[in-house]
Amino acid sequence: MDEQVAYPPAPPELFVLNDERGPILYAPLGGLMARANESAVQAAFAYADDPAVLETMSAEEKAVVHALDERGFFACRPLPHHESVFRPAQVTLFPTNNCNLRCTYCYAFGGEGGGSREPITTMKLEVAQRAVDLVARNAKERAAEGEAVRNFLVSIHGNGEPFCAFDLIRQIVWYAQDVAERLDVPAVFNAATNGVLNDEQLDFLVANFNSVNISFDGLPAYQDANRPTAAGKGSFAQVDRTMRRLVEAGVDFGIRTTVTADMVESMPEIVDFVAERYPGIEQLHFEPVWECGRCVTSADTMPDSEVFTRSYLAALKRAEAGGVRLVFSGARQDMLVDTFCKVSSGSFTVTPTGDVTACYEVSYASDPRSERFFFGRFDDERGDFVFDDEKLAELSELTVHNIPYCADCFCRWHCAGDCAAKVLDGIELEEHRGSVRCHISRALTLNQIQRKLDWNG
Ligand code: SF4
Ligand code: SF4
Ligand code: SF4
Repeated sequence: MDEQVAYPPAPPELFVLNDERGPILYAPLGGLMARANESAVQAAFAYADDPAVLETMSAEEKAVVHALDERGFFACRPLPHHESVFRPAQVTLFPTNNCNLRCTYCYAFGGEGGGSREPITTMKLEVAQRAVDLVARNAKERAAEGEAVRNFLVSIHGNGEPFCAFDLIRQIVWYAQDVAERLDVPAVFNAATNGVLNDEQLDFLVANFNSVNISFDGLPAYQDANRPTAAGKGSFAQVDRTMRRLVEAGVDFGIRTTVTADMVESMPEIVDFVAERYPGIEQLHFEPVWECGRCVTSADTMPDSEVFTRSYLAALKRAEAGGVRLVFSGARQDMLVDTFCKVSSGSFTVTPTGDVTACYEVSYASDPRSERFFFGRFDDERGDFVFDDEKLAELSELTVHNIPYCADCFCRWHCAGDCAAKVLDGIELEEHRGSVRCHISRALTLNQIQRKLDWNG
């Protein structure tokens, strides 16, 4: 499958993509796409560059231009741009960096303190409470000012397994429920967990969380090999029990599968297994492993991007048949954004030590990337959070508007420069040169466009 041809995206933004059936004209800002022949492509680009050339065009070329114009292909549209005022109505809490698993590719060295650089730490309850107070208050005030903020969100995540700090999680949830009642603003809870939970934890999860993400490597053998317990045993049986319970209870949950080179060809089989065993799951998210953290010292390697793409597309066919929504983070043609994640608007994520980071993967002060992503901390003396406005201003610059490398990419307003933690490791935005993930993002976005064309005829 071919990718885009390097026509410069002059305003109005127009791209030509190529597949086995010929050229596709694509105007991402309008979500417009059309199959075309070479002469139509040339006429469209000539007109987009200089509308005055219409006078000199043949009748056939004029007809093409008019047809495209009527559908909005040449309309100038505002570029996606988000406001980066830091006034969060949601917080992600990392209750602990302890973990009951030792996944072979863990980016955070879960259970080993970031690779033995830092101690195992549990968040202080006061830290979590002040974070909840802040987002609940913001939600209340923003709603009163007419913003479409209907609740505050507490996400439980971790650079470890959050339920290893179960007592703390309970206290956080009960506290947030009290605050919600007091302020008359609903609280919403979600959790990301490895799914290795005891009965009490599972009951609590089912009873209190609105949505859940489970990290599960798709097939029992991969789960046991890649995500062993701290004691070195397989974890499939326990995670399976959790997911079957979530299905029974009707809890919204998604599965995140980290794909290594060894298992990449099995993605279609994983879809079949998941569709059959966990019917009704919200989504199945495939992400190629990124070689960092424990992955650097284990045998796990990132799959070849061509092979990942091919296997993903085969899995997509099975997913349609099985009623499963398949996701890869870089392919999202239906989104128009200028940033890949919330990193540039100061995503409010609190680590077990009370540091505030904009990035889930950068959670230790000893990580050199913390210089970029840490922008606040809990101040014990003040008993509240302090934020660094300069850091927030720097983070707000992390948008695709400032990445020259992405300027000519038809995925620019969908992928938006990809995950900053991965592609900007130790470099500045101007030095961004993409990564092997670009091939996957482009190929899968092109596939989304092709599928829309097929549906629309
Ligand atoms: S469960 Fe999560 S935090 Fe724990 S080792 Fe695995 S990837 Fe790391
Ligand atoms: S920068 Fe990457 S790792 Fe960090 S929060 Fe965003 S998507 Fe996640
Ligand atoms: S990171 Fe790669 S795929 Fe994403 S917008 Fe930039 S060039 Fe395109």
